[in-house]
Amino acid sequence: MAQEMRSPIESGCPDGFQYMHPIMRKNYGQWAYHEDPQPGVLLHVSNNGDKMWTVRAGTQRILDVFTLRKLCDIGDEYGEGYIHFTIRSNIEYQVADEAKVQPLIKALTDAGFIVGGTRNSVAMLSHTQGWLHCDIPGTDASGVVKSMMDELIGEFQNWNMPNRVHMTTSCCQINCGGQGDIAINVQHTKPPKINHDLVSNVCERPSVVARCPVAAIRPALVNGKPSLEVDEKKCICCGACFPPCPPMQINDAEHSKLAIWVGGNHSNARSKPTFQKLVASGIPNNPPRWPEATAVVKKILKTYKEDAKDWERMNDWIERIGWPRFFEKTGLPFTKYHIDNWRGARASLNASTHIRF
Ligand code: SF4
Ligand code: SF4
Repeated sequence: MAQEMRSPIESGCPDGFQYMHPIMRKNYGQWAYHEDPQPGVLLHVSNNGDKMWTVRAGTQRILDVFTLRKLCDIGDEYGEGYIHFTIRSNIEYQVADEAKVQPLIKALTDAGFIVGGTRNSVAMLSHTQGWLHCDIPGTDASGVVKSMMDELIGEFQNWNMPNRVHMTTSCCQINCGGQGDIAINVQHTKPPKINHDLVSNVCERPSVVARCPVAAIRPALVNGKPSLEVDEKKCICCGACFPPCPPMQINDAEHSKLAIWVGGNHSNARSKPTFQKLVASGIPNNPPRWPEATAVVKKILKTYKEDAKDWERMNDWIERIGWPRFFEKTGLPFTKYHIDNWRGARASLNASTHIRF
């Protein structure tokens, strides 16, 4: 007799409602307003008068099980047993009783966690995977995040900035991360180096050829074996060929650098998206503390803090003062590398016939 077909196992995100604090579930879509009683704490008030306090602390994105258990124990003992993580790897505890807020903050602080990241602070640097999970990084994203946030703890804990500052990392040059008020992205500066002995065993050559955005890769026979060759004059050193073909090694201790971009912002209910622009390039990818990249980020933050008007986001501030003034005020050098001369950028360059002064 034919066996009954098993039903498919659905995978993917579970229903989030089952994990929500009951007050949060009950008032879904019914919140009247929220307040910020102190840095790191939010108070949400519902149309029916229900109140919910949220305490936010920064964490590293990739948590070991011991830290996770410690955070959950704090939630059980000092909170009400409910947590969630924000998109920027902050942990949030929800409580319906105001009296629990200060003991919860103390428990987190005593355990070494930093409470903050709300309103006009520097939020937690959003974190790409780096060496631990991904197969193509050119730097250790977790290390960059840790070393920068160590120096920005004061800005995370306090409301010192003109508006919120979102920072992002990207540990390769082509994929996730890399769109924020300040973005720290990998920048490759030389074409890939091909290990011809491995290409025919490891790479699907047509896919690699198709992957290159500037058609710089061609099939070739090298030492009688099928391989690939790169037209280095065309190559823009993006690294897009490395994921499908690891023998096209592009990471390099000396030539893979970091670049800093500013002014990126996603669209929201009030404003359209803005694209970030390169402001510092060729910064050494210098583990374990990346002091050169951190110094540039701190310089930009200091200038923004001193010069922007209240509630101006980074992109609003730069738009008001203009890019030449941005470079003057931050003291960052403007070099030929800031000029977008990629031939595919015809659409992004100013191609109009109007002359503007
Ligand atoms: S930025 Fe690139 S290397 Fe880093 S996690 Fe994303 S895909 Fe992987
Ligand atoms: S690095 Fe980018 S531009 Fe250069 S060959 Fe690879 S895919 Fe093409």
